[in-house]
Amino acid sequence: MTSEEILNEIAQQVAVCTRCKLQHSRKNTVPGSGNPFSSVMFIGEGPGFHENEQGLPFVGAAGQFLDELLSQAGLSREEVFITNVVKCRPPGNRDPQPEELEACRYYLDRQIAAINPDVIITLGRISMGYYINNGKISGIHGKPFWSNNRMIIPMFHPAAALHQPSLRDVVKDDFAKLPDFIQKAKDTRKQNPELASQSQTELDEDVPDDSTAEQLSLF
Ligand code: URA
Ligand code: SF4
Repeated sequence: MTSEEILNEIAQQVAVCTRCKLQHSRKNTVPGSGNPFSSVMFIGEGPGFHENEQGLPFVGAAGQFLDELLSQAGLSREEVFITNVVKCRPPGNRDPQPEELEACRYYLDRQIAAINPDVIITLGRISMGYYINNGKISGIHGKPFWSNNRMIIPMFHPAAALHQPSLRDVVKDDFAKLPDFIQKAKDTRKQNPELASQSQTELDEDVPDDSTAEQLSLF
Protein backbone atom coordinates (compact mmCIF):
# COMPACT_ATOMS: atom_id res chain seq x y z
CA MET A 1 0.00 0.00 0.00
CA THR A 2 1.19 3.55 -0.62
CA SER A 3 1.43 5.92 2.31
CA GLU A 4 -1.62 7.69 0.92
CA GLU A 5 -3.64 4.48 1.05
CA ILE A 6 -2.45 3.69 4.56
CA LEU A 7 -3.37 7.20 5.75
CA ASN A 8 -6.82 6.89 4.19
CA GLU A 9 -7.33 3.56 5.89
CA ILE A 10 -6.26 5.04 9.24
CA ALA A 11 -8.67 7.96 8.76
CA GLN A 12 -11.51 5.50 8.13
CA GLN A 13 -10.65 3.59 11.30
CA VAL A 14 -10.43 6.81 13.30
CA ALA A 15 -13.86 7.89 12.02
CA VAL A 16 -15.51 4.97 13.85
CA CYS A 17 -13.00 4.59 16.67
CA THR A 18 -14.17 3.63 20.16
CA ARG A 19 -10.77 3.09 21.75
CA CYS A 20 -11.19 5.86 24.34
CA LYS A 21 -13.87 8.03 25.92
CA LEU A 22 -13.13 10.99 23.66
CA GLN A 23 -15.39 9.20 21.18
CA HIS A 24 -18.27 10.71 23.19
CA SER A 25 -17.22 14.36 22.94
CA ARG A 26 -16.48 14.48 19.23
CA LYS A 27 -18.64 15.76 16.43
CA ASN A 28 -16.09 14.96 13.73
CA THR A 29 -12.85 13.05 14.06
CA VAL A 30 -9.73 14.94 12.97
CA PRO A 31 -7.27 12.37 11.63
CA GLY A 32 -4.91 14.94 10.09
CA SER A 33 -4.37 16.39 6.65
CA GLY A 34 -1.74 17.29 4.13
CA ASN A 35 0.81 15.59 1.92
CA PRO A 36 1.10 11.83 2.60
CA PHE A 37 4.60 11.90 1.12
CA SER A 38 5.86 14.89 3.07
CA SER A 39 9.27 14.89 4.67
CA VAL A 40 7.94 17.20 7.39
CA MET A 41 5.21 16.38 9.88
CA PHE A 42 3.63 18.59 12.56
CA ILE A 43 2.00 17.07 15.63
CA GLY A 44 -0.31 19.22 17.73
CA GLU A 45 -2.36 18.40 20.78
CA GLY A 46 -5.93 17.74 19.79
CA PRO A 47 -8.91 19.19 17.95
CA GLY A 48 -10.50 22.32 19.41
CA PHE A 49 -13.94 23.75 18.67
CA HIS A 50 -13.42 24.60 15.00
CA GLU A 51 -11.45 21.46 14.20
CA ASN A 52 -14.23 19.37 15.73
CA GLU A 53 -16.77 21.20 13.56
CA GLN A 54 -14.81 20.80 10.34
CA GLY A 55 -12.86 17.56 10.80
CA LEU A 56 -9.62 19.33 9.89
CA PRO A 57 -6.59 20.17 12.05
CA PHE A 58 -5.58 23.72 12.96
CA VAL A 59 -8.38 25.65 11.28
CA GLY A 60 -9.07 28.07 14.19
CA ALA A 61 -7.03 31.00 15.45
CA ALA A 62 -4.00 28.85 16.30
CA GLY A 63 -4.20 27.45 12.77
CA GLN A 64 -4.08 30.92 11.24
CA PHE A 65 -0.94 31.68 13.19
CA LEU A 66 0.49 28.30 12.17
CA ASP A 67 -0.13 29.19 8.51
CA GLU A 68 1.77 32.41 9.03
CA LEU A 69 4.66 30.55 10.65
CA LEU A 70 4.70 27.95 7.88
CA SER A 71 4.85 30.53 5.15
CA GLN A 72 7.65 32.29 6.98
CA ALA A 73 9.56 29.00 6.82
CA GLY A 74 8.77 28.72 3.11
CA LEU A 75 6.33 25.87 3.67
CA SER A 76 2.70 25.54 2.70
CA ARG A 77 0.07 23.53 4.47
CA GLU A 78 -0.40 21.35 1.39
CA GLU A 79 3.20 20.21 1.32
CA VAL A 80 3.46 19.17 4.98
CA PHE A 81 1.34 16.78 7.02
CA ILE A 82 -0.41 18.09 10.13
CA THR A 83 -2.03 15.96 12.80
CA ASN A 84 -2.57 15.73 16.57
CA VAL A 85 -1.80 13.27 19.35
CA VAL A 86 -5.53 12.72 19.85
CA LYS A 87 -7.95 12.71 16.96
CA CYS A 88 -11.12 13.60 18.91
CA ARG A 89 -11.86 16.81 20.79
CA PRO A 90 -11.42 16.64 24.56
CA PRO A 91 -14.44 18.22 26.30
CA GLY A 92 -13.93 21.93 26.90
CA ASN A 93 -10.46 21.66 25.32
CA ARG A 94 -9.01 20.07 28.44
CA ASP A 95 -5.64 18.30 28.16
CA PRO A 96 -5.87 14.78 26.77
CA GLN A 97 -5.47 12.23 29.59
CA PRO A 98 -2.72 9.59 29.65
CA GLU A 99 -5.05 6.72 28.75
CA GLU A 100 -6.45 8.74 25.83
CA LEU A 101 -2.95 9.49 24.55
CA GLU A 102 -2.05 5.85 24.88
CA ALA A 103 -5.19 4.72 23.02
CA CYS A 104 -4.74 7.16 20.16
CA ARG A 105 -1.04 6.48 19.82
CA TYR A 106 -2.13 3.42 17.88
CA TYR A 107 -3.01 5.75 14.99
CA LEU A 108 -0.22 8.29 15.34
CA ASP A 109 2.50 5.63 15.33
CA ARG A 110 1.14 4.21 12.09
CA GLN A 111 0.79 7.65 10.51
CA ILE A 112 4.43 8.42 11.32
CA ALA A 113 5.58 5.06 9.99
CA ALA A 114 3.56 5.49 6.77
CA ILE A 115 4.77 9.03 6.07
CA ASN A 116 8.30 8.28 7.26
CA PRO A 117 9.18 11.99 7.56
CA ASP A 118 12.73 13.29 7.98
CA VAL A 119 11.54 15.85 10.52
CA ILE A 120 8.76 15.87 13.12
CA ILE A 121 7.84 19.14 14.78
CA THR A 122 5.95 18.74 18.02
CA LEU A 123 3.68 21.66 18.86
CA GLY A 124 3.30 22.19 22.58
CA ARG A 125 4.00 20.35 25.79
CA ILE A 126 1.63 17.44 25.27
CA SER A 127 2.95 16.31 21.91
CA MET A 128 6.53 16.93 23.06
CA GLY A 129 5.70 14.38 25.76
CA TYR A 130 5.38 11.81 23.02
CA TYR A 131 9.17 11.95 22.72
CA ILE A 132 10.49 13.33 26.00
CA ASN A 133 9.28 12.38 29.43
CA ASN A 134 10.27 15.23 31.69
CA GLY A 135 11.49 17.90 29.31
CA LYS A 136 10.70 21.54 29.93
CA ILE A 137 9.58 23.16 26.73
CA SER A 138 10.97 26.52 27.84
CA GLY A 139 14.43 24.95 27.80
CA ILE A 140 14.33 22.73 24.72
CA HIS A 141 12.07 24.51 22.23
CA GLY A 142 13.68 24.95 18.83
CA LYS A 143 16.46 22.45 19.64
CA PRO A 144 16.46 19.37 17.42
CA PHE A 145 17.33 15.87 18.59
CA TRP A 146 17.15 12.45 16.96
CA SER A 147 14.67 9.76 17.92
CA ASN A 148 13.83 6.63 15.98
CA ASN A 149 15.99 7.85 13.11
CA ARG A 150 14.25 11.12 12.55
CA MET A 151 14.88 14.65 13.63
CA ILE A 152 12.45 15.86 16.27
CA ILE A 153 12.07 19.59 16.92
CA PRO A 154 9.95 20.60 19.91
CA MET A 155 8.20 23.95 19.43
CA PHE A 156 5.83 26.01 21.52
CA HIS A 157 2.18 25.55 20.61
CA PRO A 158 0.99 28.41 18.37
CA ALA A 159 -1.97 28.89 20.73
CA ALA A 160 0.44 29.51 23.61
CA ALA A 161 1.98 32.33 21.60
CA LEU A 162 -1.46 33.79 20.96
CA HIS A 163 -2.20 33.85 24.69
CA GLN A 164 1.25 35.04 25.69
CA PRO A 165 2.41 37.74 23.27
CA SER A 166 5.97 37.58 24.61
CA LEU A 167 6.23 34.11 23.04
CA ARG A 168 5.35 35.28 19.55
CA ASP A 169 8.86 36.28 18.60
CA VAL A 170 10.30 33.17 20.23
CA VAL A 171 8.03 30.96 18.10
CA LYS A 172 8.79 32.96 14.99
CA ASP A 173 12.53 32.65 15.59
CA ASP A 174 12.20 28.89 16.05
CA PHE A 175 10.24 28.54 12.81
CA ALA A 176 12.75 30.68 10.96
CA LYS A 177 15.38 28.01 11.70
CA LEU A 178 13.24 25.25 10.21
CA PRO A 179 14.50 25.30 6.60
CA ASP A 180 18.10 24.74 7.74
CA PHE A 181 17.11 21.95 10.11
CA ILE A 182 15.03 20.23 7.44
CA GLN A 183 17.95 20.34 5.04
CA LYS A 184 20.29 18.93 7.70
CA ALA A 185 17.90 16.11 8.49
CA LYS A 186 17.52 15.24 4.81
CA ASP A 187 21.28 15.26 4.28
CA THR A 188 21.92 13.12 7.35
CA ARG A 189 19.34 10.53 6.32
CA LYS A 190 20.67 10.49 2.78
CA GLN A 191 24.17 9.85 4.01
CA ASN A 192 22.89 7.08 6.28
CA PRO A 193 20.28 5.26 4.19
CA GLU A 194 19.59 2.82 7.00
CA LEU A 195 18.12 5.75 8.94
CA ALA A 196 15.58 6.51 6.25
CA SER A 197 14.34 2.96 5.76
CA GLN A 198 13.15 2.30 9.29
CA SER A 199 9.51 2.80 8.67
CA GLN A 200 8.57 -0.86 8.26
CA THR A 201 10.67 -1.87 11.24
CA GLU A 202 8.73 0.54 13.37
CA LEU A 203 5.48 -1.03 12.27
CA ASP A 204 6.73 -4.54 12.90
CA GLU A 205 8.05 -3.83 16.35
CA ASP A 206 5.84 -3.14 19.29
CA VAL A 207 5.09 0.50 19.95
CA PRO A 208 8.47 2.23 19.69
CA ASP A 209 9.68 3.59 22.98
CA ASP A 210 10.50 7.12 22.08
CA SER A 211 11.04 8.01 25.72
CA THR A 212 14.57 6.68 25.29
CA ALA A 213 15.27 9.50 22.85
CA GLU A 214 18.86 10.52 22.96
CA GLN A 215 20.22 13.95 22.40
CA LEU A 216 22.76 13.28 19.66
CA SER A 217 25.77 15.47 19.34
CA LEU A 218 25.00 16.38 15.75
CA PHE A 219 23.92 19.90 16.58
N1 URA B 1 -4.71 23.00 18.60
C1 URA B 1 -4.18 21.78 18.37
O1 URA B 1 -3.32 21.30 19.11
N2 URA B 1 -4.58 21.10 17.32
C2 URA B 1 -5.48 21.56 16.47
O2 URA B 1 -5.78 20.87 15.52
C3 URA B 1 -6.02 22.84 16.71
C4 URA B 1 -5.62 23.54 17.79
FE1 SF4 C 1 -10.14 6.76 19.09
FE2 SF4 C 1 -8.22 8.57 19.28
FE3 SF4 C 1 -10.75 9.35 19.16
FE4 SF4 C 1 -9.83 8.12 21.35
S1 SF4 C 1 -9.17 10.13 20.56
S2 SF4 C 1 -11.76 7.68 20.31
S3 SF4 C 1 -8.37 6.67 20.46
S4 SF4 C 1 -9.60 8.29 17.56
